[in-house]
Amino acid sequence: MKNIYKNSSLNLARAKKILMKNNIIGLPTETVYGLAGNAYSNNAVKKIYKLKKRPRINPLIIHYYNLRLLKKDAFLSERFLKLYKKFSPGPLTYILKKRKNSKISSFANANLKTIAVRFPQNRIIRKLLGKLKFPLAIPSANLSTAVSPVCSNDVLDEFGKKLSFILDGGKCKIGLESSVVNLNKKIQILRPGAISAKEISKILREKVYFSNKSNKVISPGMIKKHYSPGIPIELNCKKMDDKAAFIVFGKRYKKQKNMFNLSKKGSLEEAARNLYKTLRKIKKKGFKKIKVVKIPKSKIGIAINDRLKKAAN
Ligand code: AMP
Ligand code: MG
Repeated sequence: MKNIYKNSSLNLARAKKILMKNNIIGLPTETVYGLAGNAYSNNAVKKIYKLKKRPRINPLIIHYYNLRLLKKDAFLSERFLKLYKKFSPGPLTYILKKRKNSKISSFANANLKTIAVRFPQNRIIRKLLGKLKFPLAIPSANLSTAVSPVCSNDVLDEFGKKLSFILDGGKCKIGLESSVVNLNKKIQILRPGAISAKEISKILREKVYFSNKSNKVISPGMIKKHYSPGIPIELNCKKMDDKAAFIVFGKRYKKQKNMFNLSKKGSLEEAARNLYKTLRKIKKKGFKKIKVVKIPKSKIGIAINDRLKKAAN
């Protein structure tokens, strides 16, 4: 497909050029595919919101190569540095206090006093970030409220001709969005992901809380529907029904028509990787309803349950 560009030095140079002109590209990260733009440019950031149809009050995550540029944009607390050493680059996003003289576009963090920052691990995006003199504002590369993309074709499905350049990086290693942790005052998980509250607590030797409203900065009406395939989802189901797609997990399910197993061997990591792909496939097949069995609530299973719950809302 024309809009999709293979990973090569020529295409990375092309990507850099587009970003320097404050235009937007699609690219891979280890979590999900993202829509990237120059985080220092109001214009670039506004283009991201417009393309995604994302409400301007929902801030974006700023992606850095390392601490060099970040030091100028945010205050690096002791808690942050401890976690950074252990988990970055990787699928963990930190909420930090923004510096007054930071160059980050105030549109990117919805005019808040804080910014969300991440250091992605995927080789391709790291190569690109290493070549840039600015960080990238990157939300997931899907229309607001829809399911996140986990391969370059998913991104094409979302935006078609509206996005002319997508860097291809194959399938995402993790398949779910990053964990988001607020490190100001009490430590709070705003969004569960591959890095668990337990792991964070172990490094910081402090209690880690879960925010029950998934995010304070978003008005409740808007997070109600999120990660949504656009058809009704029923959770914790035990039985199939003729018309619904049935999402299962583990080896005790015998393959049947309408059945989609997230991981036959019962691996939660594999289930996370397959979740969004499965939701997209079910929608494409034209099912009008989805039923899902209970998924274990441990490790990345916590994040899977979080996304399913929001998708079912
Ligand atoms: P997405 O861009 O779809 O991966 O989502 C990014 C998540 O990070 C959303 O839930 C945002 O509300 C959250 N986020 C980004 N910036 C901030 C911030 N400064 N404070 C709190 N949450 C934030
Ligand atoms: Mg998103």
